[in-house]
Amino acid sequence: MRVVTQQKIFIWVIFLLCISILSFGVWRYISSSLLIAKANQLYAQDQPETAILLYQQARSTFPFRRDIETPLRRAKILLQSELKFEDKTQSIADLPKQQLPVPTKVPFFHFPTSTPTPLLTPTVIPMPKQLSVPILMYHHIRINPQPGNALWALLHVSPQQLDQQLQYLVSHGYHSITFDDLFAGLEGTIVLPEKPIILTFDDGWGSFYENAFPLFQKYQLKATEFIITSYQTYPAYMTWEQIQQMDASGLISFGAHTRDHPDLTKLSTKTVVNEVTGSKRDLETHLKKSIHWFAYPYGAYNDRVVKTVQDAGFTGAVTTNIGTVQILDNRFLMPRVMVDGRWSLTDFAQRLP
Ligand SMILES: [Zn+2]
Repeated sequence: MRVVTQQKIFIWVIFLLCISILSFGVWRYISSSLLIAKANQLYAQDQPETAILLYQQARSTFPFRRDIETPLRRAKILLQSELKFEDKTQSIADLPKQQLPVPTKVPFFHFPTSTPTPLLTPTVIPMPKQLSVPILMYHHIRINPQPGNALWALLHVSPQQLDQQLQYLVSHGYHSITFDDLFAGLEGTIVLPEKPIILTFDDGWGSFYENAFPLFQKYQLKATEFIITSYQTYPAYMTWEQIQQMDASGLISFGAHTRDHPDLTKLSTKTVVNEVTGSKRDLETHLKKSIHWFAYPYGAYNDRVVKTVQDAGFTGAVTTNIGTVQILDNRFLMPRVMVDGRWSLTDFAQRLP
């Protein structure tokens, strides 16, 4: 009888122990699920740093689950890209004002002056090899959420500022063109309109679709957006549907800006090829047209990177080097003018040739 009682007690203890372990497990699982939900929310609000902490906390709360690694990796990529972006552009942000070279007035037809042409030789009109075409560079088009941050102040042009700048361009006779137009102009196959200008936007931020695209429709001006082709599911970036819609409008052209926005000079050749040709292919797949233009992330390039861009079949590429003169032979290293969010309209106008 005593043995039976002892057995019963033992079974009960084991049973209660199992129930406790099970309850503990369920409680930990629910806690980690709540943490993941909160982390997803923060990620969607573009706060990857806090999201990463919560994902890690969720993982230590319930180490057996396998559904944390993917969102955690995604948040780390986003954070890394933001940090790299800040790091690389900090030096530009520190500059009080851009020191632009005096714009060179380049005649449409220019004659070489170094070797005088003999008088009786028939004059051959050389093709224009360089043209004065400012390529403006923008990033975010939205109200700066961190006005005290110098870098953010540089990179954020408000919708109202852009509206004024576009209005200025229209009322002062500027004509927005595409990169294909510029190339044709440099080759001499077309004559560019008076005061040609190119407007570029880097990274494919969602703020472009929300705030800038309506302005380009309003003024019927053209722009080129350089897309990071693995970011379309990230909340702060444009989706493929939005990109396709803008492409169909005929106002917005698209160029490649790699798949993950790395500093290409720091990568193996194989990875550079994947980033460069891969982003071209991604855009071509989604837009069903050939993509001709590329922008180096952070404006970082070396001979190997430039050669990879040429070999990938691009027509040319833009840098963050400052200048407004575009040269045919230098079309894989085209300079731009970074529009600083702290500029007044007068500052903006002074930067244009
Ligand atoms: Zn970029």
